[in-house]
Amino acid sequence: MRVPEHTRVCLFIAERFIRLTIENAIHKLLRMAKYVYFFGGGKAEGRADMKNLLGGKGANLAEMTNIGLPVPAGFTITTEVCTYYYANDHKYPPELKEQVSDALKKTEEVMGARFGDSRNPLLVSCRSGARVSMPGMMDTVLNIGLNEATLRGLIEKTGNERFGWDSYRRFVQMYGDVVLGMKSQSKTEIDPFEHIMDELKRSKGIELDTALTTDDLKELVRRFKKAVKERTGKDFPENVQDQMWGAISAVFGSWMNERAIVYRRQYNFPHDWGTAANICSMVFGNMGDDCCTGVAFTRDPATGDKVFYGEYLINAQGEDVVAGIRTPKKIAELQKDMPPVYKQLDEIRTILEKHYRDVQDIEFTVQKNKLWMLQTRNGKRTGFAAVQFAVDMVHEGLITQEEALSGSRIPPDDLNQLLQPVFDPQAKRKAIGEGMQLATGINAGPGAATGRIKFHAEDAEAWVDKHGNGNPEGRVILCRRETSPEDIRGMQAAAGILTAFGGASSHAALVSRQMGKVCIVGCSALQIDYAKSTMTVGGKVLRDGDWISIDGFTGEVIAGEVATRPSEVVQVLIDKTLKSEQSRVYQQFAKLMKWADAVRKLRVRTNADKPKEAAEAVAFGAEGIGLCRTEHMFFEGNRIDAMREMILATTVEARKKALDKLLPYQRGDFEEIFKAMAGRPVTIRTLDPPLHEFLPHQAEQQEELSAKISVPAADIARRVQELHEANPMLGHRGCRLGITFPEITQMQCRAIFEAACNVQKAGIPVEPEIMIPLVGFLPELKAQSKIVHDTAKEVFAEKGTAVTYLVGTMIELPRACVAADQIAREAQFFSFGTNDLTQTTLGMSRDDYGSFIRHYLENDLIAKDPFQSIDIDGVGELMKLGVARGRGERQDLKIGICGEHGGDPDSVKFCHKIGLNYVSCSPFRVPIARLAAAQAALEK
Ligand code: PEP
Ligand code: MG
Repeated sequence: MRVPEHTRVCLFIAERFIRLTIENAIHKLLRMAKYVYFFGGGKAEGRADMKNLLGGKGANLAEMTNIGLPVPAGFTITTEVCTYYYANDHKYPPELKEQVSDALKKTEEVMGARFGDSRNPLLVSCRSGARVSMPGMMDTVLNIGLNEATLRGLIEKTGNERFGWDSYRRFVQMYGDVVLGMKSQSKTEIDPFEHIMDELKRSKGIELDTALTTDDLKELVRRFKKAVKERTGKDFPENVQDQMWGAISAVFGSWMNERAIVYRRQYNFPHDWGTAANICSMVFGNMGDDCCTGVAFTRDPATGDKVFYGEYLINAQGEDVVAGIRTPKKIAELQKDMPPVYKQLDEIRTILEKHYRDVQDIEFTVQKNKLWMLQTRNGKRTGFAAVQFAVDMVHEGLITQEEALSGSRIPPDDLNQLLQPVFDPQAKRKAIGEGMQLATGINAGPGAATGRIKFHAEDAEAWVDKHGNGNPEGRVILCRRETSPEDIRGMQAAAGILTAFGGASSHAALVSRQMGKVCIVGCSALQIDYAKSTMTVGGKVLRDGDWISIDGFTGEVIAGEVATRPSEVVQVLIDKTLKSEQSRVYQQFAKLMKWADAVRKLRVRTNADKPKEAAEAVAFGAEGIGLCRTEHMFFEGNRIDAMREMILATTVEARKKALDKLLPYQRGDFEEIFKAMAGRPVTIRTLDPPLHEFLPHQAEQQEELSAKISVPAADIARRVQELHEANPMLGHRGCRLGITFPEITQMQCRAIFEAACNVQKAGIPVEPEIMIPLVGFLPELKAQSKIVHDTAKEVFAEKGTAVTYLVGTMIELPRACVAADQIAREAQFFSFGTNDLTQTTLGMSRDDYGSFIRHYLENDLIAKDPFQSIDIDGVGELMKLGVARGRGERQDLKIGICGEHGGDPDSVKFCHKIGLNYVSCSPFRVPIARLAAAQAALEK
């Protein structure tokens, strides 16, 4: 009888499930933890959903084995062993040795070879693999099991002496670097093995490793071993068990190397996850021209196009492709080089995408025309590709719209890339016309970046630190022959990355794609000389500090500073210089946003105080203004003079006279904002900052003001002195201003209501919400709302019309959270001002914390910058209390957030969880908040 496919799959899964359950039960019965999971010969003990235990690599090797793909046999030592190793002074659990030995036996059976056997040797690799991929951050050792005896066996077995010696040379080098700690530690130090190799190549007059003869390789091994003895005082290990355990320790040790720690910190991955260690039978891509090794993505991870995308090298081992020393061939060429292998690989590409329902990043090796799969994982992608993959896969029926929105497919921050500037085409054309184009490389990370050339990661980091991140002068393009994991901090600091070697899967490409950096790789025309700090192309020489521009969409490298212009999405939505049908990127963005809006519960508003900003935010999907900071309006034109006159006034009359001058300005601004928001709610905050912020502090400026407003300069100086506060952020600010100078609140409310009436009369609906800042006590709010209501009454009577409005408060003090029930008696809405709430809860000045926060982050005292992402345990708890107590008093209390955290995806998710009604953020963060809100709604 023919069993239908899906029944067979179900039976297969059931069988595996039962087998695993029994095995686990046995382990439990024997009180024995299972630390080793075998895979091979079509069956594996692990599964794809066991990433926490087996790491991503181990779990997927198991999964690929189970779905029938050709995977060399091996086993995974779990992440629990790594955690045990660190908790127990670098010792292993007692049962591990036996479990490894059993799994090794099974591996030998499946592969038909024996580890350490001098006639039929099995070689293995030892590869790290955490639950999330950390490209290049941890260590790997290949060709373990080679010594003088097994080398002879390998040569006899393959009949290929050169291959045997090449493998041994690589093994000694890699083992020396990784396990015996001989890797260079600084930018000036040269890898001892590279040095020996360069010397030999130079003496022989050869350039490529492939030109080394068997005798050369023998000589290299001899010199390598000598270097090991000199450096470590010990002979290179011959015992294969020692080799394997040395490699395992090195892999676990690499979990705590500096670059891995920095990487985890950047992505907020906990240090206690640990890595797994995968022992996998070696297959060889370097046995001859019927062998190759490669890496590929099932679709283009830079642009998102549905093309098989990758590269390979004939007669090479894996590290050659990623290291970027030889520039590899494009995967399409494999169709000509090895047609049956290409066909099989292309079929596997489809199988994997269907199985994982996501774009895969694979590693493979072809040994004597037989294809082996060494890894698969969800491919890292640019923001552009993430959006295109998601939208395309929904159309292909592979995933649902809801799955398309998931945070693992599109981290909300990645949408930022779609809003980033591109080069102004005219400026670029001009630069190219003037002969400024230097070369073209592989476009690995889209976007446009211009900055100063830095050749070393630490120089890039230092330069950016010195000049500041937002400063155009502080922009740096990190230019390297190739990058390595040590460069991670410099890459983080740089605006763009340019390498001379390597392909689209090189370290530089992978890491910048994940960071969302503009990146060009494999620009082989560039000759970079680190010693001279120069980059030469043709006759042109560029030096450290020169300007350079790189176009990550096209791969063009241009000397000098090229002007940038807004992204396509911005051109369509904001500038209206591009039609939506002309931009595929925009169309996909719009589709995704529509899906997000359909599922999210949180509303998204914007923080805007200018009509232009408000209009931009609406174009990005803002549903209202959550914070209009009125103080910003006082700095335009000569308004500041009237403001200063108001502050310097010594009588109420004089103050009112000055305020009368400000009134028309404010009214005009509010009218424009109401019009731009066309009936959407607009939350306007009354004056908040300390008054001295508006005053001139230097004698010269005080003289100037004196002439303008006819107040003696000495009086101005005295008033400035009087207003001086030791700690202004905790001083006379927020509602305390309106309490002591009620005329200020009166004027502002009059301006708001007059504007609202005027705009409403013109046929445009208005929805003002007046928000009182820094309230801690109910009577403060009561006093201020009385002014609001009285002024509204007056204005409505004068205008012969009325508008609907609300009066609410910011919740930005711990006391306000605790006393939220009392405050809610008066407040019609709350808006968490998490900038001040963080400052006052943590007792950490928002203006001064920069001097120490980096130290806190780098030493893991805190996981995230609390002014960027809500401190859930402290500030978050207070917010929960505020919500519960506020709604306890007033059930339908509308609650939002308008601190900077309103645009941070994790904080948005937290706001959803605690039941806020909306978040409010800067205009360019609105799409990010919309997506984050949708993800929050979809997360169980
Ligand atoms: C806040 O404190 O979170 C807030 C939005 O107000 P400001 O940043 O203007 O103090
Ligand atoms: Mg505040």
